Amino acid sequence: MKKELLLIVSYWLLSVSAWANINTEATPSQREDLSKMLLHLTDSLEEDYDLNLLPQVRVLREQSRQLGEKHLQARSLLLEGLIRQHFGDYKHSLVLHNDALAIAKNLDSPILEVQIYLALAQLEMDLERFRYAQQLLSRAYTLITTRIDAEQSKKLMGEYVLWQGSLYLLKGSYRQALATLSKHSLSEFRGLSSKLALARAWAYLSIGAYPKARLLMNSNYINKSELSQNLHLRVRYQLMNATAYLQAGEFTSAIHTAKLALNETFGTRFLTEQSKLQKVLAGAYAQLGDFEQAHLYLKRFALSQQALNLQKRNNKLLQLEAQYSLAAQKQQLSVLEKDNALQAQQLIQHQQQIDNAHLAQQRGVLGLLLIALVLGFGYWRWQNKRYLITLKQQVAERTAELAERNKRLQALSFTDSLTGLNNRHYFFSVIDAQIKPQSSPQSEKQEMIFCLLDIDHFKKVNDTYGHAAGDLVLQTVADILKQCTREGDLVIRWGGEEFLIVMPNMTHNEAIEAVERVRRQVECFPFVVNEQAIQVTCSIGFAPYPLTNGANKSLSWEQVIELADNGLYMAKKEHRNAWVGLHSLNHPLNCSIKHLNKDYRSLINSGQVTASVSYQT
Ligand code: GH3
Ligand code: MG
Ligand code: MG
Repeated sequence: MKKELLLIVSYWLLSVSAWANINTEATPSQREDLSKMLLHLTDSLEEDYDLNLLPQVRVLREQSRQLGEKHLQARSLLLEGLIRQHFGDYKHSLVLHNDALAIAKNLDSPILEVQIYLALAQLEMDLERFRYAQQLLSRAYTLITTRIDAEQSKKLMGEYVLWQGSLYLLKGSYRQALATLSKHSLSEFRGLSSKLALARAWAYLSIGAYPKARLLMNSNYINKSELSQNLHLRVRYQLMNATAYLQAGEFTSAIHTAKLALNETFGTRFLTEQSKLQKVLAGAYAQLGDFEQAHLYLKRFALSQQALNLQKRNNKLLQLEAQYSLAAQKQQLSVLEKDNALQAQQLIQHQQQIDNAHLAQQRGVLGLLLIALVLGFGYWRWQNKRYLITLKQQVAERTAELAERNKRLQALSFTDSLTGLNNRHYFFSVIDAQIKPQSSPQSEKQEMIFCLLDIDHFKKVNDTYGHAAGDLVLQTVADILKQCTREGDLVIRWGGEEFLIVMPNMTHNEAIEAVERVRRQVECFPFVVNEQAIQVTCSIGFAPYPLTNGANKSLSWEQVIELADNGLYMAKKEHRNAWVGLHSLNHPLNCSIKHLNKDYRSLINSGQVTASVSYQT
């Protein structure tokens, strides 16, 4: 009663959740409920196949499917298949078993596979397709012996033995049936012992060994409570008893037992047992000489046989139909799968096309960016180059301008503004370059004459005729000097009314000629200031470069100018409008340069130095 209540409650709960279509993963408690329900249904089915259990089995199947409990789903499919099979619905049964088998193979559950093979074997036996039944049993046997461990395989092995034995019985191979059924001790398979014992007893009866059959039927292997609960088993047991009575010649007992059993078969689907019982009754009555009854039961037996044959034919047709629809279903499935694969391929191709387009797009954008970058860089470089060229041009222009300015500035800084002659700065900037070739004279010709000129009593001109007149005189003297000198000679305004003339490559005599020409030109020039003619004269001193004293020590050009200035001083002091020119020093001097500068006259007189003088002393 408690068990019934539990079943109803769990069925109700499962129904509600199935209705709510909760498609989630099973929680442990849900899984436990489902397992309990399956166990209960299996137990109930072992007692008797009850069509009323079908809705519960379906709920279990649906719920297991929704919760992804594949194993339970396969088990419920198998249960439903067994119930339908039992009631002759072979068509649906075959589909259900095959569905269960597919799941079992996927799950790699050999126990479940064996159970399904055994169920399918029973189905084939019902349809008298013994060859297929044998194939299925062999598959079950292989799995039991190779894939399932000893403990678990025991019950399955019992079932296999029972069905293999039954197959042999159906085929009429009684000896083989006996051999199969006797291979194992009945005590090995608890729970199955009644069925196995009855099968074995049936085999004995089939070969007429009724004492052995009776021994088995009366043994403890037959579970009496099982007989009272299972109608089918009970009917078969009574049929066997009646057959044993018939074989033993106990016809009255046979009739009694058979009639009792026959009564129980009315309204049931046990047609086979019914016809067999009728045959026993006909036989027993015939043996007792009651041919009327015998004829009656024989007629009933014939009718039952007819019905059975009809049923079998129908079943075969149904089974064929089932197989056809199964094949059609499979074909449809494979077409669908192919279609799916095709669609998937098309999807992949489409995706690939999209990807390719994306890639091409990205490449294009990248390419454009690259081109823009290159163009931008090129433009930048071009602009830069142009800017640089402009800059260079500007720099060059400015540099040229600057150089020109510098040149002008230099020219200005090197030129005396009054006379237009080069000034002292100019002289200092060029003299070193000018005297270099003169540093080691090869001959007298290569001497350079440094010549200093000073206008006599110039102060007086200024004082008498004014500063402007003085300037005019200075300009005129400068012009005279330029005219009197050669192209390569330097004419410098040395300062005030003093001039320096540098004449390279000149001998002493040529120098004398030159300075004399200058002195005379100045003296003879008709100077006119303030419309008045005036006399202007000048004094000159000169010395050659290089000049080597006795210690073979070369004098610097500065020292040579100093010596020329000394000559000028002497010319001024002793005469004016005159010149004094120092000769090269041919022998060592007995005095220092300092002394030479100081006392020029005494040195000349003492013959230490030689000088040319333009006047009489
Ligand atoms: P000495 O015969 O001894 O040379 O007598 P000096 O008068 O020529 O000599 P001094 O050195 O006493 O006088 C030089 C004068 O020259 C003094 C100065 O005023 C004048 N002087 C110098 N530079 C210039 C100038 O550029 N222009 C004018 N007009 N006079 C100048
Ligand atoms: Mg002077
Ligand atoms: Mg003077």
